Amino acid sequence: MKITRYLRLAVLAVTVFAGCSREVETSNENVRPEIVVQAYDKLMRVNESSIISVAMEAEARQDITVSWWTDNGRLDAVGSSMMYTAPDSAGIAVIKMVVRDRTHQVCSDSTIIRIYSQLVFLKADDLDYDQVNIISPRWQRFIGIIKKKKIKANLGLIGTSLEKGNSDYIAAVKQLAKNGRFEIWNHGYDHVLQQVGDAGEVYSEFQNSAFAYQKDHLLRTQRLAKSKLGMVIHTFGAPGNRIDVNTKTALDDIADIKVWYYGLPDPPRLVLKRMGELEFPAGNPDFEQFIARYQPENDYIVLQLHPNMWNDEQFAEFEKTIDFLIKQQVTFINPYEYYQLKQ
Ligand SMILES: [Zn+2]
Repeated sequence: MKITRYLRLAVLAVTVFAGCSREVETSNENVRPEIVVQAYDKLMRVNESSIISVAMEAEARQDITVSWWTDNGRLDAVGSSMMYTAPDSAGIAVIKMVVRDRTHQVCSDSTIIRIYSQLVFLKADDLDYDQVNIISPRWQRFIGIIKKKKIKANLGLIGTSLEKGNSDYIAAVKQLAKNGRFEIWNHGYDHVLQQVGDAGEVYSEFQNSAFAYQKDHLLRTQRLAKSKLGMVIHTFGAPGNRIDVNTKTALDDIADIKVWYYGLPDPPRLVLKRMGELEFPAGNPDFEQFIARYQPENDYIVLQLHPNMWNDEQFAEFEKTIDFLIKQQVTFINPYEYYQLKQ
């Protein structure tokens, strides 16, 4: 009887920690892609505290003791729970829990927490099909920098590129999505900006356009990603960040999209605000202007990027910025990864 009770405790503990089993992707392809394993279960900011508890029946609680251990940060007893306080610098913390009855270790579990000082989202816009090079040389250069610096970036895909692109393009985008450093997000279907309509009105794909039109365009890219890439896209950002209330209503009908870049307040969808800036104007990275506005106290920053517009000097400005942020010990993260870790 006791064992049954303890097993239930173990299952509940796993629910609390949600970190017992990890899946590691493998590939049989000839060129073995670099796989970045998501090695942590939770995010906490430096010096932040959080109560950790194990759910168990009151009856079971009388017979057992729970021991806690961490390699980074502090644990303090608070009643029958524990308060974990993150250290004052970014890093990784492991917390372990062991449950014992009078004679045996009954179960154990652990969780890995990523401690961050600031999160950085690299919002790279306008991934499109290149007829000559499949992925343009500038995009390839950008992707190479992200890999070389072992950071993460998220790539705004234009939906029509999946219709125009050949099988090599589809394979290349799939490979990027599988890599672990890159999240592919929905950057609209045709990227129409500032067009003049029949009645002289100015409209964009997601601004001053009808609800049905906006929803159709959102869904087209979602469906193309599903059918061509075999993936569900979870993040959206409008071309030119031009949106209106119809965009919000249309997104309400698309449950798969969990994160909205520069969107209207839209719970429970997570909106990433426009905080931080590297391009002055759009398409021109400028390290000095970035530094002049940089706010290390913000929980996160988003850097909007247009790598396909950059020349050598502009790539150098980008790399300088990344090197600075690495020295600041920021954590590069992607939108849906952030959404999941916040749940
Ligand atoms: Zn764009």
